[in-house]
Amino acid sequence: MPRTTPPRPLDVEAEFPELAAHRGLSTRLHPRPGDPGPTESSVGGPLLWPADEPWPVCRTPHRRDRGRRIEDVHEERRVLARAWLRTTGTGPSDEERETVTALRRRHRVPGLDDTTPLPLLPLAQLFARDVPGLGAPEGSDLLQVLWCPFDAHAGHGPGLRLVWRRAADVGALLTEPPRPPVVGSADYVPEPCVLDPEPVVEHQYQELLGAELCERIEEWEEAAEEAAEDDDEADDEADCVTYHHDLSLAPGWKVGGFASWSVTGPADLVCSCGAPTRLLLTVAGSEWDRGSLSWVPVEDRERIDTYDANVPTRVVVGRGGSLNVFVCTADPTHEHRVSLQ
Ligand SMILES: [Zn+2]
Ligand SMILES: [Zn+2]
Repeated sequence: MPRTTPPRPLDVEAEFPELAAHRGLSTRLHPRPGDPGPTESSVGGPLLWPADEPWPVCRTPHRRDRGRRIEDVHEERRVLARAWLRTTGTGPSDEERETVTALRRRHRVPGLDDTTPLPLLPLAQLFARDVPGLGAPEGSDLLQVLWCPFDAHAGHGPGLRLVWRRAADVGALLTEPPRPPVVGSADYVPEPCVLDPEPVVEHQYQELLGAELCERIEEWEEAAEEAAEDDDEADDEADCVTYHHDLSLAPGWKVGGFASWSVTGPADLVCSCGAPTRLLLTVAGSEWDRGSLSWVPVEDRERIDTYDANVPTRVVVGRGGSLNVFVCTADPTHEHRVSLQ
């Protein structure tokens, strides 16, 4: 089902024409639970991977012999979703709670030392035909993203690997890729999701607009808030549109557009070759929250409060924020950079 972002609550460029210079396009991916195949764009789906090409592994030294089994993670989510979606609204029964406790058990895998090559987990694959703005390097039309599901890599997050390839070059498919026997964190196990990419207009993160414009936007927001307070009829904060929440960055998984820097503050990520980087992919903990409801697609508005409807991939990064992946503007195959927000 296509997903449609509602028009922004107001035309911010009419209010601040200079924002036109800070406008960009991003493609919201709109992952939703499904059964994607290897020739489709997906999050958590099977990759179009050649049978004769080695599967990527993590060789970074870290413990990898203790964690949760992937099938237990999926099963726990199924049990809890069934329980919370029951019409009684009472949540899990005693029996279901016991099942969940057992499924959350961590297991030790004998024979894995800290450098045993560990198969990576598929996170996403994006075909250029589906995702405007992917910016695939010359000769390739498919991005595959994998990661190591342990908090033991640069920035203490999961170790991310990007693979660019030409889909037409893939002959026989690897049908049963190796998997890590256990994962350090269930948050890094995606549920299979199909995508409905949708290009949307974004505006640059507020702090990067320059002090003068940033200040005028803040004053304008304060004035709107005061006006709403004076208006007894107004539905308290519900009517207060803010630049940060409603007019700048789209929430959820996306390709391109602008990054949020709400945790660390803006950083200038430069490639090791000296060229600037661009935001390639945002891996997001949720598709919407209370602050970003104006971005909820028209097709999902009835499900806003449905159990876990806003976390279709079940991936959680950082403290529920986003993992932003940047690539070199001169050559996207140069080593990527990440920022956890
Ligand atoms: Zn690793
Ligand atoms: Zn570079």
